[in-house]
Amino acid sequence: MGIRYNKITDKHQREIVLLKSFPCKYGKCSFCNYIEDNSTDENEIDKVNFEVLKEITGEYGVLEVINSGSVFEITKNTLAEIKRIVKEKNIKTLYFEIYYGYIKRLNEIRDYFDGVEIRFRMGMETFDNGFRIGVYNKNFKVNEKDLEFLGKELYSVCLLICTKGQTKAMIKSDIETALEYFKGVTINVFIDNGTIVKRDNELVKWFVENYSYLMDDDRVELLIDNKDLGVFEQ
Ligand code: SF4
Repeated sequence: MGIRYNKITDKHQREIVLLKSFPCKYGKCSFCNYIEDNSTDENEIDKVNFEVLKEITGEYGVLEVINSGSVFEITKNTLAEIKRIVKEKNIKTLYFEIYYGYIKRLNEIRDYFDGVEIRFRMGMETFDNGFRIGVYNKNFKVNEKDLEFLGKELYSVCLLICTKGQTKAMIKSDIETALEYFKGVTINVFIDNGTIVKRDNELVKWFVENYSYLMDDDRVELLIDNKDLGVFEQ
């Protein structure tokens, strides 16, 4: 059992829900175990999600939806229920997750939630193309032009840091690049999760010693523990 609803009350106040969805269409990232929460049973997905969505109060006018995949893998009934609640509770800002492969389809979501500001987040993990593809098995490459484009389409990116094979220089440059091109960045310090990617505790120590000040940076969400958002399935 996990927890699928929470309120973030410090920076970027919002409600957050972890919804169930169809399997991530990509599904091959080497560090990813989120997809264990995916299902192919549409009725079961909606049953779980409708219960979770009942908790939303709209008190901050901001809702973040995460679903161990992309917004495009949320069922149509769940999406319609989100839309109904957004209207009923007067929610003005919605966060969704996407995978790079969906980057050309964002307008479908913007149109569907017409009148609401949609903020897309994407798992970039690192700006080092070789490491992203070779180690994280996340199969896309970005050059500077792509970054400018992504910076316009997305609100923020997620970085995955302190994994074996990474260097301090990479982490430093990843954070700089994220802040240069995007309005926000979520920094996930990796925690061993049974996949082949392993945490580097030396890097974690170094990172915590040198970068804790980022906690006070409004553009940064720092997740030292992957349960820091208060929603998780185990
Ligand atoms: S795109 Fe996201 S959900 Fe899909 S495998 Fe990669 S990390 Fe996991």
